Amino acid sequence: MLDFSFTDEQEELRRVLREFAQKELSPRYAEWDRTGTFPREPWRRLGELGVTGLTVSEAYGGAGLGPVEAGIAAEEIARGDFNCAYAVVLGGLVGGILERHGSDVVREKYLVPMARGTRVVGIAVTEAEAGSDVAAIRTRAEPTGAGVRVFGEKTGISLAMAGDAFVVLARTPGEGERPGFSAWLVPADAPGFSRQPFDDAGNRPIGRGTLFFDGVDLGPEYRLGADGEGLRIILASFDLSRVLIALQCLGAAAASLDETREWVGRRRAFGRALADFEAVSFRLARHYATLETLRWYCYRALWLRQEGRPHTVEAAVCKWLAPRAAFEAIHDALLLHGQYGYTKDLPFEQRLRDVMGLEIGDGTREVQELIVARHLLGRR
Ligand SMILES: Cc1cc2nc3c(=O)[nH]c(=O)nc-3n(C[C@H](O)[C@H](O)[C@H](O)COP(=O)(O)OP(=O)(O)OC[C@H]3O[C@@H](n4cnc5c(N)ncnc54)[C@H](O)[C@@H]3O)c2cc1C
Repeated sequence: MLDFSFTDEQEELRRVLREFAQKELSPRYAEWDRTGTFPREPWRRLGELGVTGLTVSEAYGGAGLGPVEAGIAAEEIARGDFNCAYAVVLGGLVGGILERHGSDVVREKYLVPMARGTRVVGIAVTEAEAGSDVAAIRTRAEPTGAGVRVFGEKTGISLAMAGDAFVVLARTPGEGERPGFSAWLVPADAPGFSRQPFDDAGNRPIGRGTLFFDGVDLGPEYRLGADGEGLRIILASFDLSRVLIALQCLGAAAASLDETREWVGRRRAFGRALADFEAVSFRLARHYATLETLRWYCYRALWLRQEGRPHTVEAAVCKWLAPRAAFEAIHDALLLHGQYGYTKDLPFEQRLRDVMGLEIGDGTREVQELIVARHLLGRR
């Protein structure tokens, strides 16, 4: 049987989140960008709605829903406020890591409040000399007997200033010549931890920055998963976040197309509505076709995940194609609004800046192409 329909519960989730995003988030989308303010109070409201812990089990304060519901939430929240949709992506990415690999201490102190929207947990992998080439990281977790002491620097990290804790990938002494990798939960109030903000083009309410680990002592209860498993744990978690990011970008593009459809029906030039010119209507039709195709491909990837089937390649395709397609659709939406579109009174320039960031974050297009090519050609 092949069934492309959403259940009644999923449709209801979509309706509730769309209404919430339109009423509560969209009116302040620009304000949080201009002031660079992390929307902590709305984040709590998202927590009450179950959005910050959508895929986290109810036992840990989450909604206990599946990847398809997370996709719906990413799309709908991003329609109203692209940046607030980070709550969905991080809830899935970090929430999944903490639930599957965290100790009881970590789950109680960080996962539960994160799922409820009262604490924010980021993920820190990238370093100045190691971005796409994750295995080149140098941050190290040195054994002390009682636990580890972390030294190093992570850079370009989302929520750098707002985060209460971070999942951190580090090197640990391994077997023989080869060091291993381990993942740790580092609280932002731990002695030896400090941070510095970036001044980014977009995603400004989320904020990125550099994290410094100057001998941060952690007990074994802060390790996530087994020693040596850190890289595998983190790379596997991208299979969900990449699809959610794709839907986040598609949500912002869909909102832009809706607004543009309405505008071209109203705006007149040369005695006719803009919608009556095929150069205009075909442009919108082309974006609609591309975005819809990608959207359904994303839901297929999430369905594969729900069924417990491999979806690394599908996730890479989503992350490769959707942010770019969304950027192009928003760009045309801006242009079709003429000179008004270029003002900061309309949301297009901000959406462009925001979506562009996620053409890079969570792996660039080239990295996704690498994943797909290796799979196609059977290379490692
Ligand atoms: C908005 C945003 C949010 C982010 N959030 C986080 C976060 O929360 N946590 C975190 O750890 N990191 C985060 N990052 C960092 C992001 O993951 C890295 O920037 C990304 O992985 C690329 O690494 P890099 O910047 O070092 O670029 P590089 O790896 O130096 O790449 C530079 C360019 O070269 C290309 N390239 C590299 N290798 C190859 C190759 N083999 N073949 C072809 N082309 C190649 C890349 O695609 C890219 O275009 C974020 C970045 C952004 C922009």
